[in-house]
Amino acid sequence: MTELKEGSELLQRLLVEAVRDHNVLPLTGRCNLSCCFCSHRFNPPGTNAYSFGPLSLILLGELSAYLDSQQKIIIGESATRLREGEPLTHPRFMDLLKALRALFPETMIQVTTNGSLLTPQIIEEFSMLQPLELIISLNSISSKGRRILMGDPNPGQIRQLIELLAVRKINFQGSVVAMPHLVGFEDLKQTQIFLDQSGAKSVRLLLPGFTRLTDPELIPGEDQISRLYHLVYELQHQLSAPLLLEPPLINDLNPVLAGVFKDSPADKAGLRNGDLIFKINGTQPFSRVEAFRLLTESSDPALIIWRAGQYSDFKMTKAAQTSPGIAVSYDLDPDQVDRVKTSINPAGKNLMLLSAPALVRWQVSLRVGAINKLDLLTVPSTWFGGTINCAGLLTVNDYRAALAGVANIQGYNCILVPGISFDRGGFDLTGQHYLALAEGGLPLKLIQ
Ligand code: SF4
Repeated sequence: MTELKEGSELLQRLLVEAVRDHNVLPLTGRCNLSCCFCSHRFNPPGTNAYSFGPLSLILLGELSAYLDSQQKIIIGESATRLREGEPLTHPRFMDLLKALRALFPETMIQVTTNGSLLTPQIIEEFSMLQPLELIISLNSISSKGRRILMGDPNPGQIRQLIELLAVRKINFQGSVVAMPHLVGFEDLKQTQIFLDQSGAKSVRLLLPGFTRLTDPELIPGEDQISRLYHLVYELQHQLSAPLLLEPPLINDLNPVLAGVFKDSPADKAGLRNGDLIFKINGTQPFSRVEAFRLLTESSDPALIIWRAGQYSDFKMTKAAQTSPGIAVSYDLDPDQVDRVKTSINPAGKNLMLLSAPALVRWQVSLRVGAINKLDLLTVPSTWFGGTINCAGLLTVNDYRAALAGVANIQGYNCILVPGISFDRGGFDLTGQHYLALAEGGLPLKLIQ
């Protein structure tokens, strides 16, 4: 992975992009651990992904000027081609956090950390910098599991530190990368139960993607994946915190709740995991994403819920533009459907290229009549290969190979390509521009 130096034009551009477009403040690309599933380990050579050392406080101060105080400030998550490492390895991490709090006294700050550098002192300081939320990449609650999965040299301390978070009233979510073939199903199960019992607001269970260069021993077999789905089903009915599988196992747009946050408006209204939202203030939501948005925007929404074979009325007490406290899997944004509708040629033939996971959701969308006159074509990832299939990691060559297999490609009046595969300048992860796909006069449009 190429290391970019502070002062480099490319690093500056990517940093500003992360802050302006995502409200993500990158601190450092360095990490103190070496997780076997780390997404940066098995990139094919030639992939444009970058690391960087700890940024100076001067530069971070300049970048902070681009942060939006009305949105959560995110630290420790990747938003561009910059690798985000472990934020607590930044030698001035606490100084920076205090400076941010002084600049943005009311704004929620979210910090994602592997937890290995947390101390009781740091947790004490966090408690004085609220509102703050941590995402702890726990992965395993056993010392053996943390060592195997993350190479954590001090795995024994994480249990007490997570318990201390609850004592200090610091909101946190737990994330667990599912590698049961390496640590065992019981370890995976107990890790999620521990997070729930320790007061995690939610538990995210992540199915990692593996490129064609991944060591085969790291890749779980199909039998383990199907056993994993059973475990998720079991735990979703056992844990009190929402358990969210990523990527989600959904093949419809039904607004079914994946969970309800404790003491939230949804919890107080009596909503439960598995409820289907039929109507919100008389409107039937198109998808989970729309249901979440309608509930967030509404003040004291009235709901009709489908549960156990019957419809029931519920009333939620909440202010407009505040969180309803529900967890739903991400399916399809109706705004995106509208963008597709306005982009296609209504009188002609249209083709949309998309990733395999998105196919079913768009098929449902076509079935319910949200869009007409649109053919769909899934594009496999050949650059990353393996189990990688999300649109953000597709390249020009992947799209080119898929288009080459379409018999009458010249018959299409409009070909839509997901914009998420390209950066702001229109380049993919291998440095090719999307317009290379329009060679030969193909009527190509990027769709965001
Ligand atoms: S903690 Fe995160 S960045 Fe560090 S090695 Fe693990 S997955 Fe990679």
